[in-house]
Amino acid sequence: MAEKLLEIRKLTVGFVTDKGLVKATDEISLSIRQGQTVCLVGESGSGKSVTSLAVMRLIDYAGGVIADGSIEYHGQDLALKSQEEMRHIRGNRIAMIFQDPMSSLNPVFTVGEQIAESLRLHQNMSGDKAWNAAVDMLRTVGIPAPEIRAKQYPHELSGGMCQRVVIAIALACKPELLIADEPTTALDVTVQAQILDLLRKLQAELGMSILLITHDMGVAAEMADRVAVMYAGAIVEEGPVEDIFNTPSHPYTVGLLQSIPGFEGERGRELYTIRGTIPPIGQLPDGCRFHPRCPHAMDICRQKEPFDFLVGDGDDHRAACWLFEDRPVALVDGRGGRDEVKRA
Ligand code: SF4
Repeated sequence: MAEKLLEIRKLTVGFVTDKGLVKATDEISLSIRQGQTVCLVGESGSGKSVTSLAVMRLIDYAGGVIADGSIEYHGQDLALKSQEEMRHIRGNRIAMIFQDPMSSLNPVFTVGEQIAESLRLHQNMSGDKAWNAAVDMLRTVGIPAPEIRAKQYPHELSGGMCQRVVIAIALACKPELLIADEPTTALDVTVQAQILDLLRKLQAELGMSILLITHDMGVAAEMADRVAVMYAGAIVEEGPVEDIFNTPSHPYTVGLLQSIPGFEGERGRELYTIRGTIPPIGQLPDGCRFHPRCPHAMDICRQKEPFDFLVGDGDDHRAACWLFEDRPVALVDGRGGRDEVKRA
C-alpha cells in the first residue's frame, strides 16, 4: 500500500464570534495516500470547503481558525506552520483549483503570462524558458494551438478552456497533492467529463494525490479511490469507493445515493429527497447531528452523539451511526475515532 501523504487528525476548524467558537468542522479525520484520489462529498454547508481551506491554511484569510487537531504532511503539522512557510508549500508541493475559473484568473494578463509567472515564482525559471514551459503546459492540458492561446486573455477563452488554464497553473510545478474544490461544477456536462478525464490522465502521469471536493456523487463514483461523506461539519461515513456505493451504511449516504436520478437503474422512479435541511453551523441538534432528518432515528440518537463504527468486512469502512452499535469502534491513531472521550 502506498505511503500516507496527508493525514488529518481530529481537525476542528471554526469561526470566532461574540458567542465563542462556532465550529465548521468537528474533529474530522482523513488520510490520503500517494497517488490516491479521495473525494469529500456532501451538501453545501457541510464543511467540505472549510476543510480544504484549512489544509492550505487559506482559512486564516477567510476569518477562520484551526481550533484543534493536526494536518500532517510528510510528518510536519501544517496547522503549526507560519504563513511564510506555507507560501513555499502552496502552489509548489500542494496546489489548489477552485470552482470558478474566471475568478481564479487575472483578467489583465494573458494566460501564458499567468502560467509563466507561476513557474518563475516556484521553479525559478525565467524569460523564454518560463514562457516555453507555459506553452508546453497548455499543450499538456489539451488546449489546441497553445502558442496562439498563450497570448490570449481569459475573456477570449471558453469556461472549459479557462479551467484547463487554471489546471495548467496548478500543475505547472508538479505538485504532490492537488486539492480541487468543485472543479467542474461551473462547466457544461460535456466539458465536465473532459476536465475529469484530464485530471485522471495528469494524475497517472505525475503520480500526484488528489483531494476532490464535490457535491456530486456521480463525480465521486467516477474519480474516487476513497469517499468521505460529510454532514454538518463531521465525516459521517468513509470508505473505499466500491463499499460506499455498493453497501452504503449511514442513512445520510443512503439518502444521497437514492437522490441521484437513475441510481440503481430505476428509470421513471420518483426521486428520493432527504427531508429537512442541513443545520446552520453553530446550531447542531443534540445527539446525532443527522437525527432530525433520519428515517431510522431512535431514542439514543437524540441523546448521544454516535461513535465511528467499523462497517463491512475490513477495517477501512466506518460510519458514525448507532445502527452499527454492535460493531467495533473505528480507531483513529489507536484511539476511538471522534468519540473515545465522549464514550468514557
Ligand atoms: Fe439515524 Fe440514529 Fe444513525 Fe443518526 S445515529 S444516522 S439518527 S440511526
